[in-house]
Amino acid sequence: MNTISDLRLKKRILVTGGAGFLGSHLCERLLAQGNEVLCIDNFFTGRRQNVAHLLGCPDFELIRHDVTFPFYAEVDEIYNLACPASPIHYQHDPVQTTKTSVHGAINMLGLAKRVHAKILQASTSEVYGDPAQHPQRESYWGNVNPIGYRSCYDEGKRCAETLFFDYFRQHKTRIKIARIFNTYGPRMHPKDGRVVSNFIVQALANEPISIYGRGEQSRSFCYVSDLVDGLIRLMDSPDNFTGPVNIGNPNELSIRELAEIILLMTSSKSKLVFQELPSDDPFRRMPDITLALSAINWTPRISLRKGLALTIEHFQQQKLQAQKGSGFITRENYCYDRGE
Ligand code: NAD
Ligand code: UDP
Repeated sequence: MNTISDLRLKKRILVTGGAGFLGSHLCERLLAQGNEVLCIDNFFTGRRQNVAHLLGCPDFELIRHDVTFPFYAEVDEIYNLACPASPIHYQHDPVQTTKTSVHGAINMLGLAKRVHAKILQASTSEVYGDPAQHPQRESYWGNVNPIGYRSCYDEGKRCAETLFFDYFRQHKTRIKIARIFNTYGPRMHPKDGRVVSNFIVQALANEPISIYGRGEQSRSFCYVSDLVDGLIRLMDSPDNFTGPVNIGNPNELSIRELAEIILLMTSSKSKLVFQELPSDDPFRRMPDITLALSAINWTPRISLRKGLALTIEHFQQQKLQAQKGSGFITRENYCYDRGE
């Protein structure tokens, strides 16, 4: 049976969480490819200003909507990104976080089923929990605490993956699952609370660099343009490829090393300060991206140095030094009035 996209060149694409960090870059790229983009967001962690430059575009539409409620639209593809991604934000209202992942997935899968759209889930490396296997392959089932502070996010995303596969098996819905590893870049909220934005904002303001624990835990950081490229390649892959597929940059380093690189690149006078390690903070994380290369011909292109330089330039342009003392959050000074 023909879908709308078979009959029209221009695809109509729904991006949930489209006013967030990743979503706004994705909307931009999909528009540049000549598609119509419908962006829905409840602005919990996203901002209108992330997509303000797209608002005048006739092919772009922005709607305030919470994905925990049903949404009706005729679309060809759905990228389901709605969900706070920073631990500080997703732990603020953990019940809403689980609802966003679970009810959001049910609502978006229901829509995909009704209009025969292809649907991609922005899943996460957090489905591996604190992994006992390194690097993490898609076949690994993970090591996740079901009752901890991170569980609302980890288990919500795991349940969303389950729902995607049940819709695939039960209703033949065309699904794609991307397991996204730590991604960074311009347009991260300066008060987002994630490590790259925190360290850059702190370094530019010559404020102490907040290292949680001893900074020996590792992560592997992917630049946002590479990530967006991976998501689109996955969506465009043949219907018989569902994933899950890891999308990340296997360039692993410790959090302390990251801090030292950012200090050097910003010529900052900041000192490292060591704070309490949050519970269940995964100790090592690095994607095995063999499947991404073989199935969707994807591999990251932007080196950490290049990506950090672009991100630092972005934060410099935002004149964050002027916000000294209030431009970032840590677990210690955290307060939910993020301002804009
Ligand atoms: P983000 O917080 O910047 O973006 C999330 C967006 O979702 C925001 O615009 C927010 O307002 C919106 N949102 C939250 N709850 C919503 C709801 N109930 N209804 C509608 N909109 C809602 O985070 P991001 O880094 O852009 O992450 C986007 C997606 O990618 C998330 O699903 C996240 O879990 C996933 N992901 C991101 C990373 C990363 O490193 N950036 C890693 C793994 C997975
Ligand atoms: N982290 C840190 N200082 C910060 C923010 C984060 O040391 O100001 C650490 C955090 O404990 C974790 C790593 O950096 O080990 C990545 O944290 P982030 O919140 O960016 O992502 P996630 O933990 O979800 O991978």
